[in-house]
Amino acid sequence: MKYALVTGGSRGIGRAICVKLAEMGYYVLINYTSKQDEAENTLKLLREKGSDGEIIKFDVADQTQVEASLGVWLDKNPDKVIEVLVNNAGIRKDQLLMWMSNEEWNSVMGVNLGGFFNVTRLIIKGMLIKKYGRVINVVSLSGLKGLPGQTNYSAAKAGVIGATKALAQEVGRRGITANAVAPGFIKTDMTEGINEKDFKQLIPMARFGTSEEVAEAVGFLASEKASYITGQVLSVNGGLYS
Ligand code: NAP
Repeated sequence: MKYALVTGGSRGIGRAICVKLAEMGYYVLINYTSKQDEAENTLKLLREKGSDGEIIKFDVADQTQVEASLGVWLDKNPDKVIEVLVNNAGIRKDQLLMWMSNEEWNSVMGVNLGGFFNVTRLIIKGMLIKKYGRVINVVSLSGLKGLPGQTNYSAAKAGVIGATKALAQEVGRRGITANAVAPGFIKTDMTEGINEKDFKQLIPMARFGTSEEVAEAVGFLASEKASYITGQVLSVNGGLYS
């Protein structure tokens, strides 16, 4: 059995990634923080694919919770090495910088950037021992070009891109790759308030993308076939200039 962990696997892009990894034969640990019913729906989908998994609840931004939940799982399962880690959990709280509250800044940095650190630090050890691993970080167009109203989110995602490139250089010799996937506008709960009609003329492919289209890119980077690709950012954005 091969093991994978997807943070924020309960909904949206994370759910599609869980399903893709299940299709690839992975037993998937589905992380979530608030929507247990949605995490259970993801688990059902994995089982429909003939694979299996389990739900693991923790707030990626909270180091104590990550250690108490994921750290304990790792201690209890020393024979089960997670070989694919997808850092997907993310939130956005848009606000112009001049109006941005401490909470809007800190929470977006904590989940998107802190989450990468809190989770990857625990998982990378097993990969180093196994001399194999795939770390895929879901970032954003916003982290590549910056978007107005998103100084917090752009900074966090740009931070993860820098961390991805640095980590790739730390672990390459051990057969571990670290890459990022940068979606543009994807139809999920996160973009619910954004009107596709208003934005689609900016997108060469003239539509928002689907979670499954992002999951295909993640699946490729998670595969053994992507063995010589590391430290890269793969945009999945319908051709939006980034
Ligand atoms: P979504 O539909 O809002 O889903 C977010 C997921 O993250 C949920 O599973 C949620 O869990 C989980 N999550 C949120 N905060 C968490 C925390 N503190 N700890 C653990 N899990 C947490 O978002 P999405 O659109 O699928 O986005 C997935 C990733 O893609 C994010 O990193 C986002 O920044 C990135 N992205 C999205 C788009 C887009 O257009 N949608 C574009 C670029 C990048 P619960 O269900 O428990 O709340």
